[in-house]
Order: sequence, then structure tokens, then C-alpha cells
Amino acid sequence: MNNIIIIGTGLAGYTLAREFRKLDKETPLTLITADDGRFYSKPMLSNALASCRSPDSLASSDAAQMAAQLNATVVTHARVTAIDAQQRSVTVNDETLFYEKLVLALGADPVKSTLAGDAVGEALSVNDLQDYAQFHAALQGKKHIAIMGAGLIGCEFANDLISAGYTVDVIDPGQHPLGSLLPKAAGEALQQALQTLGVGWHFGKKVTAINHDKEGYRLSLSDSSELEAHVVLSAIGLKPRVDLAQAAGIKVNRGIIVDRLLMTSAPDIYALGDCAEVGGMVLPFVMPLMQAARALAATLSGTPVAVSYPAMPVVIKTPAYPIILSASPLHTGYEWQTSICHEGVLRGHYYDKADQLQGFVLTGKATAEKSSLLATLPAWL
Ligand code: FAD
Repeated sequence: MNNIIIIGTGLAGYTLAREFRKLDKETPLTLITADDGRFYSKPMLSNALASCRSPDSLASSDAAQMAAQLNATVVTHARVTAIDAQQRSVTVNDETLFYEKLVLALGADPVKSTLAGDAVGEALSVNDLQDYAQFHAALQGKKHIAIMGAGLIGCEFANDLISAGYTVDVIDPGQHPLGSLLPKAAGEALQQALQTLGVGWHFGKKVTAINHDKEGYRLSLSDSSELEAHVVLSAIGLKPRVDLAQAAGIKVNRGIIVDRLLMTSAPDIYALGDCAEVGGMVLPFVMPLMQAARALAATLSGTPVAVSYPAMPVVIKTPAYPIILSASPLHTGYEWQTSICHEGVLRGHYYDKADQLQGFVLTGKATAEKSSLLATLPAWL
């Protein structure tokens, strides 16, 4: 059967479908999703509160509109429970659907905290539009929000919530925000900027238990201190969704392993987006999935194209202290050289042994220098 099935209608699945339709208007295309199939830009979830955006206003098209735009079938509220790579089929709602080519655009799951307490199951994570709707509803009439994790998503929500008038506490075992991404000086400058707005930081500590309290929750921290909050947001990381592929005998590591044609270890099964591991890299960001979608669209339409990754910057959406960072995920242990000039503007660079610039971080007004620096960075893949 000459057809393509894409599992997942996040940015990866829908971007691939769009790119594919630019090259092939006819081949039958089916997208299957466990959610409602609305199209939205996930990065907006962590800066929608300050701009008073309701969850529904973040979706620009529903599944029927997407199906019409893409000349595709979009099957919603349908979870694929098995893949049979031999007979080229997937199982969904006890039905068997056959494919010629299958694409896994499954995304990632938020890491769940394994804590003590009678309310641990009530900590919320925001990783899709439905999660955001739940979080948005939980905030109504509430004031005090505790965020577990001072990584990218935790910091963006801290900035958004404090700007929207909430009281915010952030707890993280590290020593400064975005500890695994930013040089210390940049992390501390972000910490200071958000603290000036009122964010309470609790570094060097972990949440050990969440219990119900009179008006909300009581969080116990590893230094025996306690915090009260009306809503608890967990932002402690993401884990690529690999189980479906693994159960089908497809090779997985941190993510679903693919080659540069985005093909998994099973013939004619491909993967991209947050679930995929490309060249040893799991990159849960928009730019890598766009690169992958363009290459894979060409491959699926009959012209094999290997994905390439230029150096890709990440914009950290903390308006209190804007940051742009580009650092190869394949490099670890590099030494940042940082300088701070007036108004807390920071520039950081790191070089390899041959003195080639390999990464940079820019903050405040210096973020405007991004393009010229990017042009000098070597490609990642
Ligand atoms: P998802 O959007 O998670 O889509 C996965 C799809 O697979 C869903 O449709 C789901 O229903 C479906 N699915 C999964 N399993 C099954 C199954 N078994 N059967 C059927 N369907 C299934 N990146 C940036 O570059 N810049 C940013 O500023 C930025 N901000 C972010 C802010 C937040 C709050 C978050 C959470 C992420 C942010 N990111 C950002 C990351 C970026 O949004 C993601 O990398 C990207 O959206 C992932 O898209 P995806 O399609 O791979 O996954």
C-alpha cells in the first residue's frame, strides 16, 4: 500500500506533513494522535499568562482544519499501542492500519517526581496544550506557586507567573538557574533579575515531600525547611517517548535512534522531534525538528536527504533578562569565558583547543549580536 502514517501531531508531526505536502500532493497521508489534534506552538505555553492568553486562544487550527490544509486524514484521541514492523502495521483502538512508511513523532514525557506525601500526584507539569489548560484552571483564584526545577521551562514559567502577578518560589538542587546550560555568571544574572521581580529561589535543595495543607500544599525540602503553595508545577525534565518503538524491537537509547536519513533500525520506520536521537543528540527544541522535517519530507517523497544541523541557538524566554545560547550538546566540560559590561549585559564564549569558537551566550542588548556569531560556529551535524 502506497501510504504514509505519522504518529503524533505536535510540531514535529505537523511540520513534517506540511513539508511533505510541498513536495507530494497526492500520496495518502494519515496522522494519528492521542490528543485532540489542534495545532499550537508549544513554546507559547511558557509565556502565555503574562499576555493573558487563554488555553483555547493558543490553538490556531483544529484537527479538521489541519486535515483539510494537509489533504490528510487526522485521527484524534487515538493512541497507537503497537507497531508490527514485519507486517507494516500499527494497532490503534483495536484496529490494524497498514503503512508503506511510518513516522514516529511521539514527543517526550515530563519526568515524574518520586517523592513522599499525600499530594505528590497533584504536582502539575506543562508539556502540551491540555496540560496548560489544566494548569491555567488550577491557577484561578490562587496566588502562590511553587516550581520544582530551575531549568529552561521552570525559569520561563517563573518569569511568566511573576509578571502575571503570582507569588513564585523555585526549588532546585543546583546552585543557579539553568545550571546545566549557562555559565555561572549568566545564571546568577538571571537569578538576580527574577529575584528583583520577587521570585524566591531555593538552591541546593530538593523537594522531598508534598502534602495537603489547609489552603493548598506543604512542600518539605531536603534541608528540613518547608514551603507553602497553592499550586505546584513540576519542571524537572523530559524523557523521550521510546516505549512504543522499543516494544516493536526498534533500537533505542536515550531517544529512538535514527541515522541521518532519520530512519530507525527498522526499515521504512522513521523518527523525528523530541522522541528521536540523531547523531547521538536528543534535542528537544523547535529548530532541530524543523531541520529534520525538511530533510525527511524530501526522503519520503523519493529524494533521500541527510539531515544536517547547523549550530542552533536557544532563545530563553525570560523577558526580565533575555538570553540567547548556542552550545553544542556534544561538548561537555567546556570553559566559558565571560565578560559583563554595563546594565548587566553579558557575553560568554567558549573555544576548542584549536581556538575555534564553539559556543556563545549573550544577554540583554547583546542578544542582537547573535547572527554574526552564529555564522562563525561550526555545524553540529
Ligand atoms: P509533542 O509536541 O510532544 O507531540 C507529540 C505528539 O505525539 C502528540 O500529538 C501526542 O499526542 C502524540 N503521541 C505520543 N504517543 C502517541 C501514541 N502512542 N499514539 C498516538 N499519538 C501519540 N523549544 C524551542 O526551541 N524554543 C522554545 O522557546 C521552547 N519553549 C518551550 C516551552 C515549553 C513549556 C515546552 C514544554 C517546550 C518548549 N520547547 C521550546 C520545546 C519544543 O516545544 C518541543 O521540542 C516541540 O514542541 C516538540 O514537538 P514534538 O512534535 O516532537 O512533540
